[in-house]
Amino acid sequence: MPIATKAFANSGPKAPMAAATIQRRDPGERDVEIEILYCGVCHSDLHTARNEWSAWPTVYPCVPGHEIVGKVTKVGAGVKQHKVGDRVAVGCMVQSCRKCGSCKEGLEQYCDTHGTVFTYNSPDPHNTAPATYGGYSERIVVDEHFVLSISDKLDLAAAAPLLCAGITLYSPLKHWQAGPGKKVGIVGLGGLGHMGVKLAHALGAKTVLFTTSPSKVEDGKRLGADEVVISKDAAQMKAHTRSFDLIINTVAVAHDLNPFLELLKRDGALVLVGAPEHPHPSPSIFSMLMARRSIAGSGIGGIPETQEMLDFCAEKGIVSDIELIPIQQINEAYERMLKSDVKYRFVIDMKSLNKS
Ligand code: NAP
Ligand code: ZN
Ligand code: ZN
Repeated sequence: MPIATKAFANSGPKAPMAAATIQRRDPGERDVEIEILYCGVCHSDLHTARNEWSAWPTVYPCVPGHEIVGKVTKVGAGVKQHKVGDRVAVGCMVQSCRKCGSCKEGLEQYCDTHGTVFTYNSPDPHNTAPATYGGYSERIVVDEHFVLSISDKLDLAAAAPLLCAGITLYSPLKHWQAGPGKKVGIVGLGGLGHMGVKLAHALGAKTVLFTTSPSKVEDGKRLGADEVVISKDAAQMKAHTRSFDLIINTVAVAHDLNPFLELLKRDGALVLVGAPEHPHPSPSIFSMLMARRSIAGSGIGGIPETQEMLDFCAEKGIVSDIELIPIQQINEAYERMLKSDVKYRFVIDMKSLNKS
């Protein structure tokens, strides 16, 4: 019997988020049922709620949320890794084919059979609903492989954004070997960017923040940047020409990439993690070939690396800087996020669902 579950959903690209009831499946043999305590608000939630990604059309009703933390309330008979009462988390994926090369390497987000089931807006393999429903809800049921453990050392609400913003920056930082002796740039001080600054600094890289907001300079330094550059200031940008090993770009809108490409050393990489509605203008081919520079992309991170990142954050005492909100403020939070007016991640206190 499916379980009726309180949630917040919207019914179309222009419709606001509002109280709704969704169904969750009864936990199966390998499933974990989780009471959601907190859920972070990612810019991808907004892109999806408003149907901004033509490559990934939104199925309505849409229940976003993929920075989920909570407590285990029930487990299936075959579950080995989690038990009732454990502090757990779910990020951007809830299933994949588990058999292909990428899945076997723990890179389930790149499943070679396109079998990744994302936490929201993917076809629901259990047919409980037309699409998967995310964390703006009181509970979720997930295969244990996709359920992470969260150390008691981490504040649960502030740890929620690690599940997307944290891993989305940790994974490329590790892949492109950010660390001592490397100069790393993070573009945009939003939810992803502020985790990028904290993580690059913790990994020992010389960390430079690029921001369009002069009001964020002090915060950038407090969060771990050795230097902050106002990206609209050509003279400040020029001072860093040919000096970066790696620049990770988190910006959520299309913009000119060339000024950042020029800052890469020979063999440097500009890694795009921001996923804007419209494509960036084509970058300069000459800028790439004159210094063997590359432009790459990176998507979240696999399950083993997500657990590694959570353990790294527990060891280093890293969480997100958050503004805790009741779910009734989600529409206002989206508008503020569009104005870059959040320090630096909204997290929903899921207790508030009981008030709607
Ligand atoms: P966010 O909190 O809104 O942050 C985006 C930041 O971009 C802003 O804080 C702002 O920083 C900067 N920015 C905004 N408008 C700008 C403009 N017109 N020109 C230049 N910079 C601008 O968003 P987020 O949650 O971090 O997500 C960022 C993007 O990453 C979204 O597109 C999201 O969908 C995507 N994403 C991708 C993955 C992945 O796996 N690759 C995972 C999660 C999210 P400043 O004020 O400092 O300039
Ligand atoms: Zn996200
Ligand atoms: Zn696979």
